[in-house]
Amino acid sequence: MKKQLISAMIITLGVMALFIAGVIITEKVNLETIRSEYSQLPNSGNAGLVDIPAPTQKAVQFEKNKVAVWIVRFLLSLAIPAFLLFSGWSAGVRNWARSQSKNFIVILALYFIIYSCIDYLLSFPLDFYSGFVRLHSYGLSNQPFTKWLGDSLKSFAINTFSGAAFVWLPYLAIKKSPGRWWLYMALLSIPVLIFISYISPVFIDPLFNKYQPIQDKALEEKLRSQISRTVIRDCQLYQVDKSVDTNQMNAYMTGMFNTKRIVLWDTTIRNLSQREVLGVTAHEMGHYALGHVWKSIGLGALLCAAVLYLVHKSALWILDRSGGAFGFTRLYDIASLPLLILLINLFMFAAAPVENAYSRHMETEADRFELELTRDNQAAASAMVKLHQGSLTLPQPGIIYKLWSYDHPTFKERVDFANSYRPWEENRPLRYQKYFVNF
Ligand SMILES: [Zn+2]
Repeated sequence: MKKQLISAMIITLGVMALFIAGVIITEKVNLETIRSEYSQLPNSGNAGLVDIPAPTQKAVQFEKNKVAVWIVRFLLSLAIPAFLLFSGWSAGVRNWARSQSKNFIVILALYFIIYSCIDYLLSFPLDFYSGFVRLHSYGLSNQPFTKWLGDSLKSFAINTFSGAAFVWLPYLAIKKSPGRWWLYMALLSIPVLIFISYISPVFIDPLFNKYQPIQDKALEEKLRSQISRTVIRDCQLYQVDKSVDTNQMNAYMTGMFNTKRIVLWDTTIRNLSQREVLGVTAHEMGHYALGHVWKSIGLGALLCAAVLYLVHKSALWILDRSGGAFGFTRLYDIASLPLLILLINLFMFAAAPVENAYSRHMETEADRFELELTRDNQAAASAMVKLHQGSLTLPQPGIIYKLWSYDHPTFKERVDFANSYRPWEENRPLRYQKYFVNF
């Protein structure tokens, strides 16, 4: 290995250490701020406005835990591929796969299956802790262990088999077009993102939970009447039995053409008032009407092109200087998979603030759509308080954690907006008037 490569690794580790120190410091400062700001209550004392209650000790503990898990997950996303690469296991698995078959596609699929199993096993302790142990200890989950394990194994099987079936695609692209493969893969990401956004909620999600019509018929009637006041047509309404998994609340709208659907978690229906459920649904309708899924797919493809371009350039740079130390010298060798995954995870992490900033913008616009449609500021704000308290979210996080992991505006920003956005009271035009009918 050349000196340049070793220096690059040391610099990367140094930047990561500084980043983690920055996260820890900004989180500490934020907790101090929250402690002093929320020590006296009530905050506003204003009739009609909803206050954010002082966060509980449990919520503060959960925030610390969340940030710690987030950092460990990031480190693990680099450590696992790095381990396979530097230990020479990657080249060993490739040799074994080659001994089993002469067929290019079969060799790649075998390699991928082994890689996926190793990755699953090494990630298992953290997944088990963060997805099961921790949620139970904070009272956020109802899931029996068998359901958690069953869901985890189902996801693992789906990911492993779809990965094994398609891993030859990027490798064929790298082999046939060593200079442009990243561009072809970014183009291919568009149908993949469409599948994930529109098709998997309709066909894959029912493998995990039970979907049925809204049981509360009075609520369903109100929801239909709210939908009929917008340009959205032919939309189905479902509720899903998420209460078997979690105490947290959520709703979403997905599908296209005749699979268009709004799905409410049963926890949302159970824990929110009818006005609040109408507000939450209006927010989801906003995402749909404003074309947010298409916009995210567009941005996703652009980011994918940028990330893969950087992966392409840096992988070649590393290979040039590795002197064959990893057991391969060409990128189209399947043994390069951990190197590609390592670089993808690193650059995706670097790109996260851009993606999150755009997502936070779309969320604010969906909140605006909700308020313009329902004009029920109080229900919007009180639903926001229940949703965030229900998931033990603090009013605001530290700045670095916010930029890197908040795809929604903070609890405080959303409640403030819900309390204050009332253009109709000042006779100002509505931004989304064109999406409403019968107003
Ligand atoms: Zn949203």
